Amino acid sequence: MKRDYYEVLGVNKDATQDGIKSAYRKLALKYHPDKNPNNKDAEEKFKEINEAYAVLSDSTKKQQYDTFGYDSDGNFNSQENSYTRYTSNDFSNVNDIFGDIFGDIFGSTTSNNRKNSRMKGDDLRYDLEISYLDVMNGVDISLDIPKKETCSFCDGSGSKGNFGKKQCNKCKGTGQVNYSSGFFSFAKGCSQCNGKGIIINDPCYECNGEGIVKKRKTIKVKVPPGVDEGTSLKVSGSGNAGLNGSQSGDLYVVIHLKKEIGFRRDGNNLYTDISITFTQAAIGFEYNVNLVEGFVKIKIPQGTQTGTILRIHNKGFPILGRKNAKGDLYVKINVLVPKHMNDAQKKALFEYAKSIGEIPNNEKYNNNVFFKKFFK
Ligand SMILES: [Zn+2]
Ligand SMILES: [Zn+2]
Repeated sequence: MKRDYYEVLGVNKDATQDGIKSAYRKLALKYHPDKNPNNKDAEEKFKEINEAYAVLSDSTKKQQYDTFGYDSDGNFNSQENSYTRYTSNDFSNVNDIFGDIFGDIFGSTTSNNRKNSRMKGDDLRYDLEISYLDVMNGVDISLDIPKKETCSFCDGSGSKGNFGKKQCNKCKGTGQVNYSSGFFSFAKGCSQCNGKGIIINDPCYECNGEGIVKKRKTIKVKVPPGVDEGTSLKVSGSGNAGLNGSQSGDLYVVIHLKKEIGFRRDGNNLYTDISITFTQAAIGFEYNVNLVEGFVKIKIPQGTQTGTILRIHNKGFPILGRKNAKGDLYVKINVLVPKHMNDAQKKALFEYAKSIGEIPNNEKYNNNVFFKKFFK
């Protein structure tokens, strides 16, 4: 069950409008979301007092409420429904409306921001595929992007002569119309000028009076070293142009990486595989490992087993935003066994096998047809 509106504001039934207003201001200041971030209770309270005030500050609604109260659904029994906006679950509405009247109290600039944000151009997204090499070094790229630009013919005014333009009389050039309900008021986009605030009598031929044209624009983007799949680079002001010379939106360049044969990436680390012979693995040697760019000489220790992973510090991908810092290189070693050997090679291995006792020097082995030809 909903609480009584008078109880919500903490005033008597015979309170004056001034009394109601002052009680409301006090509570609104206390429970305003700016002062109670992430506080669900305060948010609910704030909605509740706004709803109560919307009704009690309006003499017609107040009278109806005093006479009929709520209906069975807990709704205030009124033909007019405008106050329901204050109880909307979409909290931003409440804040929006509130900002209009209380901007001065809270030192907020909501009102101005709201106007600008409505007119601000759209943000754009561009998906860009780059190579591992570009990730290593960073790259400057020119993007050819279709976007909305301020019309150069009319300089965004939308008017061909700059004389047939007049302020919209309905919204007085603000692009918004205020509806008030007692002390409370809220704003809506103006229907006469579509929120532009002006009416154009001699529309520009180039942009049909919109002040904005669609065209392809070349935008230079600096991709820093170390970006990864999904990294989003913001190019401020390179989105669509805003209306009436308002701020442009931003461009977001979202990075995708081309797959590279022979390499894998995990975080800032680079992974690669190499194959060496069993003698190299047994004796140990130096190996030049190919990198995305150039190579690095690594030491394969004597007795390296197949599947061994060697870590080479600081030879991975650059770490985004950290100069000269890099991830590591991981080299997985695959040891190959020779598929073809000539007789001399086989004999050498046979000697080796004997030297480690793998093949005993006895009749059975010496008479073996295969080995016989080496040891007549
Ligand atoms: Zn134009
Ligand atoms: Zn208007």
